[in-house]
Amino acid sequence: MAHIRFYKSQPKPHITKLAELGMDKEQLEADFKRYYGHRLGRDENCRTLNYAYQALSMAISDRLTERWKRTYNAYKNQDCRKAYYLSMEFLMGRTLSNAMLSLGIHDAVDEAMYDLGLELEELVDNEPDAGLGNGGLGRLAACFLDSCATLGLPVNGYGLRYEYGMFSQDIVNGEQIEKPDHWLRNGNVWEIERLEYRQRIKFGGRTETRTDGNGVLRVSWVDTRDVYAVPFDTPIPGYQNGTVNTLRLWKATATDEFDLQEFNAGDYAESVAEKNTAENITMVLYPNDANENGKALRLRQQYLLASASLQDIIETWVGRHGHDFASFADKHCFQLNDTHPSIAVAELMRLLVDIYGLPWDKAWAITSSTMAYTNHTLLPEALERWSVNLFRQLLPRLLEIIFEINARFLAEVSARWPNDTSRLRRMSLIEEGREQYVRMAYLAIAGSYSVNGVAQLHSELLQKGLFRDFYELWPHKFNNKTNGVTPRRWLAACNPNLAELITKTIGDGWLTDLSQLQHLKRYVDDKAFCGRWREIKQQAKQNLIDFKKQELGFDLNVNALFDVQVKRIHEYKRQLLNVLHVIHLYDRIKRGDTANWTDRCVLIGGKAAPGYFMAKRIIKLINNVSNVINNDPQVGDKLKLIFLPNYRVSAMEKICPGADLSEQISTAGKEASGTGNMKFMMNGALTIGTLDGANIEIREEAGDGNFFLFGLNAQEVEDLHHHYDPKAIIQQDADLQRVMRLLECGHFNPFEFGIFDTLIASIKSPHDPWMTIADFRSFINAQKRVETAYRDQERWTKMSILNCAASGKFSTDRTIREYNNEIWKLTPVIVDNGNV
Ligand SMILES: *Cc1c(COP(=O)(O)O)cnc(C)c1O
Repeated sequence: MAHIRFYKSQPKPHITKLAELGMDKEQLEADFKRYYGHRLGRDENCRTLNYAYQALSMAISDRLTERWKRTYNAYKNQDCRKAYYLSMEFLMGRTLSNAMLSLGIHDAVDEAMYDLGLELEELVDNEPDAGLGNGGLGRLAACFLDSCATLGLPVNGYGLRYEYGMFSQDIVNGEQIEKPDHWLRNGNVWEIERLEYRQRIKFGGRTETRTDGNGVLRVSWVDTRDVYAVPFDTPIPGYQNGTVNTLRLWKATATDEFDLQEFNAGDYAESVAEKNTAENITMVLYPNDANENGKALRLRQQYLLASASLQDIIETWVGRHGHDFASFADKHCFQLNDTHPSIAVAELMRLLVDIYGLPWDKAWAITSSTMAYTNHTLLPEALERWSVNLFRQLLPRLLEIIFEINARFLAEVSARWPNDTSRLRRMSLIEEGREQYVRMAYLAIAGSYSVNGVAQLHSELLQKGLFRDFYELWPHKFNNKTNGVTPRRWLAACNPNLAELITKTIGDGWLTDLSQLQHLKRYVDDKAFCGRWREIKQQAKQNLIDFKKQELGFDLNVNALFDVQVKRIHEYKRQLLNVLHVIHLYDRIKRGDTANWTDRCVLIGGKAAPGYFMAKRIIKLINNVSNVINNDPQVGDKLKLIFLPNYRVSAMEKICPGADLSEQISTAGKEASGTGNMKFMMNGALTIGTLDGANIEIREEAGDGNFFLFGLNAQEVEDLHHHYDPKAIIQQDADLQRVMRLLECGHFNPFEFGIFDTLIASIKSPHDPWMTIADFRSFINAQKRVETAYRDQERWTKMSILNCAASGKFSTDRTIREYNNEIWKLTPVIVDNGNV
């Protein structure tokens, strides 16, 4: 394609020197007015805020685009090694306020909007969340992109542009109702469609083998039903450093021939309707968290992501280097976010061997030195397996390649352990049985040079348990990268008052070096500082009360302990244990056992996978218990239980500044890391938690005295399984007995007899994998220690400050530095702010 000449007289026409856009209030206001009045064609009579939001976003997006191009050119000119984060989920949330923070123009914009009679906060709240993920795994991907850009690392994200993101949750009669989330309804100002980079993706068909002129076997994949993958790019700005990286999301569309084939056979209408089959692929995000699903459409999604991204990268490579792949592995690295994109291992082999004619061994050397795999779960039910039959139908050539990888891999295993057939069966990439399955985690491990867990305990348990055989074979591949969260979104942007106090006290270095928060420790005895800290927390609680007031219809007591558990609803996260404690408190009030009472407001929020019966029933229980407690005049302000509907990123931004207590109460050994725990800690909440996931490291950093520990540890949970007897535990605990009796007699479901029977049976079963009953007493005791601590407000404030001060480790800047030093080995690129 010819380069577009912006300026005819310029000697290098392909370098387009754009005038710098102003960052001051006047320039921003002028651009806003131009977009609002001219591009969007609105005037002062327009009644919706949406267009003002859009005009402002366009003005700010332009400023990102300048830096985006500079970054792109800097990477290109330096021909640097790059990493690609492949993920089926990017839970980005909102973009506008983060963009303003990154550009350092929040205050200028605020003033410009004020001049125009607009409230910036209202515009910010007008933006729908980009909810392209389920929970922690997807949010981690978003925080990682933020840190990569802030560290100046050439890392781009690749994902899918779902038309419908995570469903929006309504609560009707205490039950979850799912509503489709059409987040693109009003357009998306932040993305740029790039039709010029679309890729063709094959599905179905069959393979053909022939011998080429040199006597080499060649396989072609023919008679396929193809679709296009069209990329949409979103800018990912670093924090005030001129770097803007790219998140490229693929949308599936029909090919032109797709229609034509059928049209020629006379089925015009059918063939147009068939377009839907193609476009369906990226229609909707699967709303399952920590659970495999096995649906054909999901496998199509995974392959489209892997194939489109790899073809995109290889096309760029071939454009510069031709078919010489000798240094491809020096310049590329692919981080697989769980097994979801792990079909990329086989797809890279296919592209290198079938399309570019590399010998198998050379292609394998490239693949297995560019792929790196992150595991996110210890739950066996979450490990992805794909039926071999489904694979053969949908991706016949990929299945052949996986079989070949497996044959060579098993040869390596049996060379190391001759005649150990049970080991071969255990380690095979193919699970044998009535039906065969492809074990995606094993494919990912075999094809990667790095395998990491996401917290210390999780990585250890992977090596000792789930992946033990693989650890014995390749110990050097295994490593840990404890998760984090970005302090820009999760402290600076969501808690501006606290951020301001911190900056006034220790300077603003913490924004890019969170370990500097430790300097706050010096101020725990400073009366004025502590007073201000407490004031800010109370204000954040009041904001949360105001935010919820309308839907609740009543006020919450700002002086009550705000006890918060927000996360996906899952049995292993044990929202049930939280409810048992609430019922116990209610029972105490009813019995008049309220000496030294601490008022408490328990907030629980989260979505259940639509097909997860138990999780949905837990939501119903929370709402029913809430109804009884909140309407009992005898309870009053002593205790409230609130279910927060439609938990999502933008909700968490309002929730975490206002939390006193963070509930991280999963069964030990089940939560890989957790990241909600980190957001709360950064915002000065104290944690009540088990020795699970990153809780262990949080407690290490905060100190035992600033953490409320309870429950069995992972080893004790393991050991107890053989002789777990919850009914005996209940019998020996009068408080627990009364709690169970209230549940069993239908106190919370007088009109829906028996609806909680399955929940009750599950925790009373000796086979309950989550051992809720086992931890009840220990949890109650820890909650008593919480109450005692909270009644001493000075002591509590100190503990709050110390938690925030100790949260430096949990910045994704630290996590990403570790990924880079130990896995990616990229050189940071300084983007010149001055010229294009
Ligand atoms: C941080 C976050 C999560 C992860 O929370 P956990 O408590 O670690 O499970 C899930 N969803 C949203 C919207 C988040 O912001």
